Amino acid sequence: MKCYLIRNCIRFLSTGQHILKVCIVGSGPAGFFAAQQILKKLDNVRIDILEKLPVPFGLARFGIAPDHPEVKNVTNRFHRIATNPHVQFLGNVNVGTDVTVDQLRDFYHAVLLTYGAPEDQLLNIPGENLNNMISGRRFIGWYNGLPSDKDLDINLDVEEVIVIGQGNVAMDITRILLTSVDKLKNTDITSFALERLSCSKVQKVSMVGRRGPLQAAFTIKELRELLKLEKCKKVWRPQDFTGVRDIVPTLSRPRKRLMELMLKSLEEPENDDIFFKFREVNLIFLRSPVEFHGYNELQSVRFAMNYLRGDKIEDQIAEATGEFETIPCGLALRSIGFRTIQIDSSIPFDTSKGRVVNTDGKVDGNLYSAGWAATGPVGVLLQTMTNAFQVANLVCKELASSTENKMGFDGVYNILNAKGIQIVSYEDWQKIDRVEQERGKKLGKKREKIVDIAEMLEIAKGAI
Ligand code: FAD
Ligand code: NAP
Repeated sequence: MKCYLIRNCIRFLSTGQHILKVCIVGSGPAGFFAAQQILKKLDNVRIDILEKLPVPFGLARFGIAPDHPEVKNVTNRFHRIATNPHVQFLGNVNVGTDVTVDQLRDFYHAVLLTYGAPEDQLLNIPGENLNNMISGRRFIGWYNGLPSDKDLDINLDVEEVIVIGQGNVAMDITRILLTSVDKLKNTDITSFALERLSCSKVQKVSMVGRRGPLQAAFTIKELRELLKLEKCKKVWRPQDFTGVRDIVPTLSRPRKRLMELMLKSLEEPENDDIFFKFREVNLIFLRSPVEFHGYNELQSVRFAMNYLRGDKIEDQIAEATGEFETIPCGLALRSIGFRTIQIDSSIPFDTSKGRVVNTDGKVDGNLYSAGWAATGPVGVLLQTMTNAFQVANLVCKELASSTENKMGFDGVYNILNAKGIQIVSYEDWQKIDRVEQERGKKLGKKREKIVDIAEMLEIAKGAI
């Protein structure tokens, strides 16, 4: 057992207080924000954060785009939480496989599931398995160094790309494909992604949504960034905006500002100098993919043309007109949302809604859930934080009456030790972190992420 664990145990024993033991499953933003709030409310608490990977921070490390370093800085806050003496990070522990949720419920006074949404929504249409029809989630994992996506086979030797979906994830994908590598080379993007992007032949990216501009899921900051891309022509279809101008004054402020920006860009005269603009982004609305065409390799996507039905603008749904449009492409990325999974059969799970069954974070008994595992895969950091704080408040309220003694970490340790599982402590992660920063420095980058789990574990052991 690590010496710092022993230090902590001694500290707790010497106070003679009844210690409340909380286990958090998943070290993404929801897990850390919940831990922060529990620390604020309770003195006599010990929090163990169990994480499947040897490294912490979830999508703050593996999702947020490399050209958004200011957003990634949220990990500085998580670092302060992880180094609080009441908190222990236990990496390389796959809950549901290495230790069950029922075992955790026995060992701890409260178990909080914050394991995110690690899978993809599927379109379930013909051709979805063709080569170069890629999961957008995996593309993000690839450029961000997620170990399971390091070998993603993506061919950027193509000129035309289609991104399906119009959320902020689709925006990130589109922007990374069209950003000059000069702007990415000093970030923490993986070197292999940078190298592949530097040879990319991509000239045109079409980002296609099934509904209209008034329902676009992306937000203004992300659209502004896209419109500012250098040497990139922005193309809209004026027919997608029929009747939209009249509705804009009636919209809520954020949606109104977003629409004003779209309309401004639509009306802006484009500089058509082909020497100045060598890339192009097309924003296409009212099209639902119905088939991916090609033999082995993708050649085009067939879309059903849609109209909108329904009274309330934001709730309008796309209906097929019966007409179709085929758009050629050599690569398509599906970005229609993530999906939560049931990591352990004892977790009550709603497959249709795609989330852990919960009421305001309460699952049942001493089991709780927060973040994307509980809400489904929606919401930026701020919303995830608000949700995690609310659920943490509930946990603290319900824990107040608890008097029973629980084994806590000792119970988990016995199980993992018997299985020969190497626990990665926060100090171990800091060794990995140092190596990544050193490697990055040599390349003139913020960090060079290690993408191989075996190598992470060797560094954690001190073997490298
Ligand atoms: P996650 O971040 O997914 O964390 C879940 C954690 O649980 C992970 O570490 C995972 O490894 C772990 N886990 C999974 N299974 C197990 C298991 N069986 N055992 C143990 N651990 C497990 N928000 C912004 O505000 N700004 C942005 O710029 C931004 N960019 C984003 C970019 C992308 C591509 C995505 C997908 C989201 C982005 N977001 C952004 C949203 C933000 O990332 C989420 O709000 C937030 O990460 C959700 O936190 P979470 O803890 O619920 O899930
Ligand atoms: P999202 O915002 O829910 O967008 C999903 C997109 O996919 C929507 O355009 C949706 O269209 C479309 N879609 C869903 N099902 C479809 C189908 N069957 N066929 C065609 N299109 C379909 O999800 P996301 O982009 O994955 O983002 C997840 C969350 O992370 C969001 O809250 C987002 O804001 C956040 N995030 C934030 C940032 C940032 O702040 N920079 C970056 C990335 C992600 P409909 O609207 O018609 O359903």
